Amino acid sequence: MAEQPAPGDRRSRRRDPAAGRSGGGPLDRLVDGFARLPGIGHKSAERLAHHVLQMPLAEALAFAEAIRGVREDLRPCTVCFNLGEEERCAICRDPRRDVTTLCVVERVRDLLALEEAGGYQGLYHVLQGRLSPLNGVGPEQLSIEPLVKRVRDGGVVEVIMGTTPNVEGDATALAVVQRLDGLPVRITKLARGLTVGAALEQANRDMLADALAGRQPF
Ligand code: ZN
Repeated sequence: MAEQPAPGDRRSRRRDPAAGRSGGGPLDRLVDGFARLPGIGHKSAERLAHHVLQMPLAEALAFAEAIRGVREDLRPCTVCFNLGEEERCAICRDPRRDVTTLCVVERVRDLLALEEAGGYQGLYHVLQGRLSPLNGVGPEQLSIEPLVKRVRDGGVVEVIMGTTPNVEGDATALAVVQRLDGLPVRITKLARGLTVGAALEQANRDMLADALAGRQPF
């Protein structure tokens, strides 16, 4: 957890004259906000905050609005748990998609990576994470049961496991496959063209397309 000073407690805030004259003022809050992002240290956070300060006002406000929008306007699709502005996401609503094929991924960003790679015409199911007992994530924290229901409701011919190829991702895929056991559906997995441990989102376009084309029985 990021260190969070109690409101009004300015002693624990980093004092940096370059970051703001009024310790805890708007610029400090922006620096703190950036510094909480993954991979952003305090120096980078300061650089980004100062960049925002110099942006044209309209551009800066559009940025703030985009942050508000992703938190307030997006919600999980009631079918596949992708994010969208309506009850069913744009992919689920698209009549051109092949409803007989589901690709199971951990996160929305994995879905986006596959969409960007192109070539996949089926639908998705976003698990909303992966099994991680050490972090308290068990099967009940994931959207596995809604997936089972989707398959049970019929019409799905193939479920492609697109979980991350690492220990936790494989354990997650196995848990899903066990829950689908006995249902009349073909279960496949993405070809392991990906380096073990490489997240889908880090894979390049061609690798993802190859992984999809070369999928094999689970
Ligand atoms: Zn959806």
